[in-house]
Amino acid sequence: MTKAQPAGGSVQHPGAGPGNPGAGASLDDLQAKAAAVHEALPWIKRLSGRTVVVKYGGAAMGTAGFDAFVDDVVLLRYVGVDVIVVHGGGPEVSQLMTRFGKEPVFVDGHRVTDAETMDLARMVLVGRVNKTLVGRINTHGRLAVGLSGEDGLLLVARPRVDPGGRDLGYVGDVEAVDPTALRALTDKGLVPVVATVAAGPAGQPYNVNADAAAGSLAAALGAEKLVYLTDVEGLYADLADPGSLLEQLTVAEVEALLDEGRVAAGMVPKLTGIVTALRGGVRRAHILDGRREHALLLELFTDSGVGTMVQAEEER
Ligand code: ADP
Ligand code: MG
Repeated sequence: MTKAQPAGGSVQHPGAGPGNPGAGASLDDLQAKAAAVHEALPWIKRLSGRTVVVKYGGAAMGTAGFDAFVDDVVLLRYVGVDVIVVHGGGPEVSQLMTRFGKEPVFVDGHRVTDAETMDLARMVLVGRVNKTLVGRINTHGRLAVGLSGEDGLLLVARPRVDPGGRDLGYVGDVEAVDPTALRALTDKGLVPVVATVAAGPAGQPYNVNADAAAGSLAAALGAEKLVYLTDVEGLYADLADPGSLLEQLTVAEVEALLDEGRVAAGMVPKLTGIVTALRGGVRRAHILDGRREHALLLELFTDSGVGTMVQAEEER
């Protein structure tokens, strides 16, 4: 059997790939696509066999970027990256609370969590958001396994003490991480999907911030990268000024921003998570726009990064 000879110029290519995506494309178009795939080669070589922790925020869930995010995670797995997905789900927890007649209350960004709220949060995060992600990833085959911080004592929390003396209930800070369960999964080529409910001091569920948990997990795993996907392009020097996106920072600069109190709300736990991770040996961290389709691929596998990148000092 002879292989069809490539024809020159703008001859139409009739029979490209699965689902025929190249049909009707000129050879020049196809060449450009091949070049884009080729650009990924050095980045794939660098990341294959390494660990990448990706936190997908509740704020980006349900946006146009979600399906592309799922596909990107699957692609990462197929090129040999040990990818671990950590997810939030704050907006869905608030919705369920409202349905049960409970008003969400926050103190410095932490949800005040009484026993009933903890129960609802666990139902939503572990039972719903986690399983939705697992189900979506597994449309590509047997890949994802969902677990929460309570499983295998992945995340152990100590009660958070509010500096203002207010009772936060079952809100904790990550005290210890045991990545054994995650490694057991990644060693088998599976993708762990983590809901960040932690085990409390007496084994009861505790509510820990997903951003902080992702930072602690990345450090404990010796991850190559930690990536936050959220609903802004990255970290802004001034949230009100779209021209003030900070593209590149060192971990010391991030610590200074936190000390100066110049960052607000949802960015604070991301930046503290980044400090935990980078001070714990992770090489790089990124904050990307999870609403944008394929933000993860754009950052990891192209020469031009997107969003905000934080790196350890000595690299500059
Ligand atoms: P996620 O679900 O991804 O954790 P959050 O709402 O908790 O999302 O955090 C992202 C939010 O952080 C942004 O929507 C933005 O309003 C807020 N934010 C506060 N300060 C900044 C800043 N300096 N740069 C970017 N975003 C900021
Ligand atoms: Mg958040």
